Amino acid sequence: QPEWQDEEYFGNYGNLKLHLEMLSDKPRTEAYMNAIVKNADKLRDKVILDVGCGTGILSMLCVKHARPKHVYAVEASDIAEYTQKAVEKNGMASKITVLNDFAENAKIEDDVDLIISEWMGTMLLFEMMIESVLSMRDRFMKPELTIWPSSASLYLVPCTAQVHFNRKLEFWDCQYGLDFSSFKTLAKEDLLSKPYHDYELPCGDCLAKGQSVLQLDMKTLTIQSLENIVCQFEFVIDQGDTMHGFCTWFEVEFCPLSEDMDTVILNTGPDNQLTHWKQNLFLLDSPVRVNAGDVISGTLTISRNPEYRRHLRAFFDFKVIPGLQESKIVDPSSVQKMFYVWR
Ligand code: SAH
Repeated sequence: QPEWQDEEYFGNYGNLKLHLEMLSDKPRTEAYMNAIVKNADKLRDKVILDVGCGTGILSMLCVKHARPKHVYAVEASDIAEYTQKAVEKNGMASKITVLNDFAENAKIEDDVDLIISEWMGTMLLFEMMIESVLSMRDRFMKPELTIWPSSASLYLVPCTAQVHFNRKLEFWDCQYGLDFSSFKTLAKEDLLSKPYHDYELPCGDCLAKGQSVLQLDMKTLTIQSLENIVCQFEFVIDQGDTMHGFCTWFEVEFCPLSEDMDTVILNTGPDNQLTHWKQNLFLLDSPVRVNAGDVISGTLTISRNPEYRRHLRAFFDFKVIPGLQESKIVDPSSVQKMFYVWR
């Protein structure tokens, strides 16, 4: 029986800490709000399902800015009790039904027109809440069903991370006038063993142009296909430097509901306003020297932990193929590294 760690997972969403972080994240929340405001006319008299409503922010923004027929706000964690009160305080109790349940079990006897959800995590997919959104899509499937976000992409870039690397290790040179360097080996093991999810990638540390290595279309994506995802990449290094590893971030799109409307985009990349997701850094065991024109070619394989179903494995396998300045192209050896996010 696969472990979903629901107690741990929904326990975390039952108190305010994560909700405070998400609500404080303006680019995140405003992207959803923009999609609602811009498409308000098309949301009129529609039935909306908010999967994992948390504090109810997305449901209440729908009622505030559009005129939906009804909103079903489903939330499995204990925060739902307070969300119900917030809905009442905003005078929206006749428009929003808060259901304190798993989306998968929620009793909704209505025909849903729009599924809205904020399910994204570290490396886009961590937490695998996307599975709940997809199962709601399948339950309420009809040709005109809209899912927001409507698509999502994972971005990857090779990067240098000298400052981060030094900062994490130099700490151990000296503490309170004492030589602490004997702890450095441990500190390095620690630094390299896990991805760093709270990373602010300076744009200038990108060694090539970031690439979208995975595109998910929420209409056609299957849950089964998320089991093992192979992402191909090929970067041309535009700046010679020490490559410490890779960074990831993501973008999601909210498709317009009418032809004259634009797509609303939420991009969590380094040249956008910082969100609470920041960027994610994957450090190699040994840095690699790369030159402008070199090609970094390989795959990133993302697979779900067979036991801990919310957790992921990220396996990098790549080669650095020397650019033109090398007269003889020798067969470059491949670099491989497995990361656990987080089990
Ligand atoms: N929509 C809110 C919260 C997003 S965080 C906002 O935008 O601020 C995701 C929320 O979904 C969490 O509160 C989590 O408890 C809830 N959740 C995740 N999976 C769920 C499921 N299967 N059923 C119900 N709620 C779920």
